[in-house]
Amino acid sequence: MNQFQYVRATKPQAAIEAVAKDPNARFIAGGTNLVDLMKRGVMTPQKLVDINRLDLRKIERQNNALRIGALALNSTVADDRQVRERHPLLALALNAGASPQLRNMATVGGNMLQRTRCPYFYDTALPCNKRQPGSGCGALEGINRMHAIFGFSDKCIAVHPSDMSVALVALDATVQVSGPKGNRSIPFADFHRLPGDTPEKDTNLEPGELITAVDIPDGPFTKHVHYQKVRERASYAFALLSVAAALDIDNGTIKAARLAMGGVAHKPWRLTAAEQALIGKPATEAIFRQAATVAMQGAKAFKHNEYKLRLGPNIIVQALKTAAAA
Ligand SMILES: Cc1cc2nc3c(=O)[nH]c(=O)nc-3n(C[C@H](O)[C@H](O)[C@H](O)COP(=O)(O)OP(=O)(O)OC[C@H]3O[C@@H](n4cnc5c(N)ncnc54)[C@H](O)[C@@H]3O)c2cc1C
Repeated sequence: MNQFQYVRATKPQAAIEAVAKDPNARFIAGGTNLVDLMKRGVMTPQKLVDINRLDLRKIERQNNALRIGALALNSTVADDRQVRERHPLLALALNAGASPQLRNMATVGGNMLQRTRCPYFYDTALPCNKRQPGSGCGALEGINRMHAIFGFSDKCIAVHPSDMSVALVALDATVQVSGPKGNRSIPFADFHRLPGDTPEKDTNLEPGELITAVDIPDGPFTKHVHYQKVRERASYAFALLSVAAALDIDNGTIKAARLAMGGVAHKPWRLTAAEQALIGKPATEAIFRQAATVAMQGAKAFKHNEYKLRLGPNIIVQALKTAAAA
């Protein structure tokens, strides 16, 4: 592991200044992703700015939304009464991720900014445009079982690994950030980005910007929700593919719907066309199947991940059926 400087910030502005003025500085929260990447030489920051003493852990109601502080732990959020009552989809997605020990360390901000689990990104002996721009994408012609079927480019076919983020994009969350130029709000759907020609950039955050909170607006998705995750073992594994489904059903008719997928793109993948295909229709398997067909339009597989094209629609139907029955 490279040597690095470690500082503890007690005020957001000090943390922001420390990272904004030094391109080799990074914030550290739970450290469950960043420290792993540093041990493997994938990321080599020269300064870590510890943000754990900032007052960013609260979960509270504000302006018809639930505001979740960026340093709230994944386990605290999943167990929070307001989250479970108002946004049970988020609790389900969080509990599908990692292990209890990791969820006790991992924070909301860190979870959103965790890096891809593409093996070419993790192995510093192999090419990866995300780790080392211009070195090529090993996965394009290599082992690409885990990789994207939507939104990829010829520079990168990696997927975003966060379960929590799939629920947050479905719930129309907003990310609150503070930076050297002040505060701003970013709709969750615009927070992560597609790889294009610059896959080294995972998000639209500017240098030095600190995530302070995530806001989830009140909504009707308090009952008919489900997070379906397919992985290679029953726990402690990243999603091969996942679906967040939320329905508002009145007398058997779908009044509102939210759908998003994980494990399929460089960002959590919202399925708005499929949502539209559900609204006003009866909550039946045949309708769910039609929406799944709409959802998969434009999906393209690589040599080893063709199974995602078959698995995707089946998991969407299963998630919607389970949500409708909840
Ligand atoms: C074995 C293992 C299995 C896992 N399985 C899953 C899984 O199944 N599903 C899943 O979703 N996740 C999984 N994870 C990932 C885990 O959820 C993340 O490691 C964790 O959420 C990262 O949070 P953290 O607070 O530890 O982030 P850190 O490691 O501290 O930081 C991660 C990144 O975020 C930046 N950062 C942190 N906080 C902020 C902030 N407030 N503002 C700006 N930048 C910030 C840091 O600079 C760093 O670049 C797994 C991890 C491990 C090790």
